[in-house]
Amino acid sequence: MEAAFKSFNMEVPFNKTWLTGREIEYIKEAMAGQVSGDGRFSRLVSSLLEQKLGTTKVLMTTSATHALEMAALLTGLKPGDEVIMPSFTFPSTANAVLLRGARPVFAEIREDTLNLDPADVLRKITPGTKAIIPVHYGGIGCEMDRLMEIARGHGLYVIEDAAQAVNARYRGKPLGTWGHLGCYSFHGTKNYTSGEGGALLVNGSDGVLAERAGVIRQKGTDRERFLRGEVEKYCWVGIGSNYTPSEILMAFLYAQLEDMDAITARRKAVHDSYAQGLAKYVEAGMIKTTSIPPECESNYHVFYLILDSKKTRDRVINELAQRGIEAVTHFMPLHSSLMGRELGYLPQDLPVTERIAGGLLRLPVYAGMIRDEISYVLENLQEILERLEV
Ligand SMILES: *Cc1c(COP(=O)(O)O)cnc(C)c1O
Repeated sequence: MEAAFKSFNMEVPFNKTWLTGREIEYIKEAMAGQVSGDGRFSRLVSSLLEQKLGTTKVLMTTSATHALEMAALLTGLKPGDEVIMPSFTFPSTANAVLLRGARPVFAEIREDTLNLDPADVLRKITPGTKAIIPVHYGGIGCEMDRLMEIARGHGLYVIEDAAQAVNARYRGKPLGTWGHLGCYSFHGTKNYTSGEGGALLVNGSDGVLAERAGVIRQKGTDRERFLRGEVEKYCWVGIGSNYTPSEILMAFLYAQLEDMDAITARRKAVHDSYAQGLAKYVEAGMIKTTSIPPECESNYHVFYLILDSKKTRDRVINELAQRGIEAVTHFMPLHSSLMGRELGYLPQDLPVTERIAGGLLRLPVYAGMIRDEISYVLENLQEILERLEV
């Protein structure tokens, strides 16, 4: 390779799990008692979230994928129904809909936030539309006030895919609590984790939805009512499955969630350094980076760069990799994937999504990232970007 490449002296992974130090202690406590689901730690975690979010009901699940599947069951999706969502998302958002025989309808994202574009949502509403699934990309909120207004006007459910948006807000209200239902992820790559895990938020005062959610999650039984002492034994009362995480996972998660705000503060410090170090390239119009609108409080899940083309993006990823820095792409648009094409979509259906996804890379962000690592990423990236210009 060219002489311009310095041999690297550091390895910076894309992600590293942050441990608060109490995980093992809580797991030991769980092991001494009940290890199956819905024990003490599940209750601690769901009440911590309910209090912090000010929402009706938080049901812990085995993943955000499962929370989305529960939401699709709860909203009664069936063949012939359409659900509007961005194409720029993880396959789970669309799979939840397809598993019920309904159709995912892919809409465009906004250039500034990479979130669902309300104007395109409006264009895509038909008599068959049943729900909207906004995805809060990187922990930055969609325009929930506008989306809720559109949904009210057309009698649609709103299911937030807030997998990346735990502990983030839009106009002061936590993401995941705006829609009828909200889905969180505690996957190993997310800000707060139990390795695998998630939650379904049932918002609003309509107790019927919350009651049914409990039945679906408890294998179609009224075990929740039994646990509350309302019935003498529990039995089969409806359709359901098992989405209950074990106490061992919830013990781990409780240790993480106790430090939620401290973890966010650490990620913010990384974000701020990156934003500052890259500002001149943004001002020169060479790249775009994560930008947070004033009405959003982010949880700093993603710091991205958008380059002018897929070719440039791939080159930057490769050059960073040669210096020991792991930068990665993100969502491959669903509409132009193999499955999307099988559903009848063409790449040119959503040009903004295609262009943005092709030019995007994510930089390493983790709570334990030290100064030297941040500087190492920035110095190398700056050097690579300088050379791109010529
Ligand atoms: C991570 C993610 C999911 C899936 O979460 P799991 O907990 O791994 O099932 C779904 N949607 C989005 C937008 C995600 O980022």
